[in-house]
Amino acid sequence: MRQPLPEHGTGWSELKDRMLGYAAGDVRWREGKTAVYVFNAGPDVEQVQKEAYALFQSENGLGPAAFPSLKRMEEEVVGFGLGLLHGPEGAGAITSGGTDSITMALKAARDFARKERCVTGPLNIVVPRSAHPAFDKACAIMEIEVRRTALNDYLADPEAMAAAADASTVMIVGSAPNFPFGLIDPIAALSDLALKRDLWLHVDACVGGYIAPFVRMNGEAIAPFDFELPGVRSMSADLHKYGYCAKGASTVFFRSKALMDFMIFDFKDWPGGRMVTPTLAGTRPGGAISAAWAVMNFLGVAGYRVKHALVTEARAKIAAGAEALGFTVLGRPQLGLLAFTRADADCLAIWAKLRERGWFSGVTTEPRSLHLMLSPIHAEVADQYLADLAWALEAAGGATPTEAPRYA
Ligand SMILES: *Cc1c(COP(=O)(O)O)cnc(C)c1O
Repeated sequence: MRQPLPEHGTGWSELKDRMLGYAAGDVRWREGKTAVYVFNAGPDVEQVQKEAYALFQSENGLGPAAFPSLKRMEEEVVGFGLGLLHGPEGAGAITSGGTDSITMALKAARDFARKERCVTGPLNIVVPRSAHPAFDKACAIMEIEVRRTALNDYLADPEAMAAAADASTVMIVGSAPNFPFGLIDPIAALSDLALKRDLWLHVDACVGGYIAPFVRMNGEAIAPFDFELPGVRSMSADLHKYGYCAKGASTVFFRSKALMDFMIFDFKDWPGGRMVTPTLAGTRPGGAISAAWAVMNFLGVAGYRVKHALVTEARAKIAAGAEALGFTVLGRPQLGLLAFTRADADCLAIWAKLRERGWFSGVTTEPRSLHLMLSPIHAEVADQYLADLAWALEAAGGATPTEAPRYA
């Protein structure tokens, strides 16, 4: 909607008050009331994010020669990610988010197929039905067909994916975990398929890459899902999710520098001189890089293990509590996401009731279920959530909302 820019400026303190006024209707995430959109690792991490972001807010990751500080921080963050995910070579970059990481991995896979495998004509990718819409967005931009294959027990079905793949398939995808159910796809089987058919396997660990390694260290039996499996050629892992970094930060990784070279855009055919950009962005906010560097070093392995133990504790408690109320948890979630359903209740109506009590979570639609993406704060409010869930189950009765809420 068109609006005139105010003729005169306003003082910062008044503006700040007005902005906080705008936020009055926002969900109370600091109290743990939201289980989607925000990863709340507590006020200590939030302070580090903010101060580290502000320190490099004006600097630009587009210019590594001008800002060796950012280059160094990016290399270290990428190094930490490669170390956690068994990366065999130092090949990766910080991007603006999961969608950026996925888009750039797909660009690399496509260019690899065109140049190395001489694939011509229309291209496709094969993904499980639970794969994130970022793949469809990237494919819409690049005019690549997306083949979504049916799930088997909420997981990718390697046989269905094998049947859907052909000579024009530039990528197959597994998620670790998928967003709708929080379940890790059978990546080992997908790796075998990729090796057997010489396919590019991308593991989308956007929401799992910075939690799964630590949950494994905490004793949970997490099956191999990363570069440890030889068929995995690229991965996406979001720093701004379970890395607890400031928003605008993800990582994309490649098995080798040679594969990563297919991602990088190197251009000089204009009057402005040569411009090399590894990711989708031109200007790259220095703050997102510095905040990521600071949070990772602030937490360290021990810090992540403690924070993530609270997440998995909350997940286990809510799963058990929901089951005690007659819900069924979909699959066997091991990380910070879970979805649960009840055949004789309308989960979307329950969602709406919980919303009345200030809770904001996600939902799934196949089947209709309540969906939570948990943070350390939720260990403190799990009992309160379960009490309100019991109330909402009663209160929802037979009501049927007409449309699923938009949540992501
Ligand atoms: C969040 C997410 C994405 C997309 O990441 P954005 O940072 O929101 O762009 C992709 N895949 C999975 C599994 C995700 O959870």
